[in-house]
Amino acid sequence: MDETPRLKNAWCARVITLFPEAFPGLLGESLTGKALKEGIWALEPIDLRIFGEGKHRNVDDTPAGGGAGMVLRPDIVDAALNFAARGTPTDRDEWPVVYLSPRGRPFDQAMARRFSRARGLTLLCGRFEGVDQRVLDHHHVEEVSLGDFVLTGGEIAAQALIDASIRLIPRVLGNQASTEEESFSDGLLEHPQYTKPATWADRDIPEVLLSGHHAKISSWRQAMAERLTKERRPDLWRAYCETHGRDPEEDREL
Ligand code: SAH
Repeated sequence: MDETPRLKNAWCARVITLFPEAFPGLLGESLTGKALKEGIWALEPIDLRIFGEGKHRNVDDTPAGGGAGMVLRPDIVDAALNFAARGTPTDRDEWPVVYLSPRGRPFDQAMARRFSRARGLTLLCGRFEGVDQRVLDHHHVEEVSLGDFVLTGGEIAAQALIDASIRLIPRVLGNQASTEEESFSDGLLEHPQYTKPATWADRDIPEVLLSGHHAKISSWRQAMAERLTKERRPDLWRAYCETHGRDPEEDREL
């Protein structure tokens, strides 16, 4: 840990956590795992405990003003952030520094795309009641939330964020087209998917998908994507209609 990790050219996630052994976790499996082994992206878990104070390597203390739980100390987190920053660009666009937090901006596909285009990022995983605010302000840390719910720690959120970001790096999935058509990339939820057998539990695959007629298949998929988005995510549907000059009330024939 005393050595400055050499910054290779690969996209790199440095993750500050009390549970470094939780990484790579699922990110080490399947396509993201293969890309990790091939060096397309890199992962450096940084053990926050190492920066802790005293024999017990304390990292937290009681909340100022009282209340339940513990708060991660600013001096400890500062040391870890400084360690993580060694050799990285100071420009936050090139190298975002993120604290996973339920108070952050909600994570979405546009953010994943922005992170995938950076050279890498530093992720700070909170625990207990969170992190002293001063160290977040001092380091211009961006707060990002996985959604409107509270997790026990930032690690699962960090893994979700890394997963969504690295699958957008060319060569990670191997089939770039699949990220262009999927949910959110064009502002719509994806159409439903089917595979063999053609009939299962008395249910048939929609006939058009077996027709081999590419233009018809593609307009069916588009219509299904629009219908699903309209039903399930009126917020996305309104935004889509606005950018595409469409009437949100109009229903297209399937
Ligand atoms: N007391 C805090 C919650 C702390 S939860 C509050 O009410 O805002 C402990 C840690 O889990 C946080 O520091 C954060 O890193 C992580 N966490 C919890 N919920 C999260 C979410 N929705 N998104 C991202 N990280 C989250």
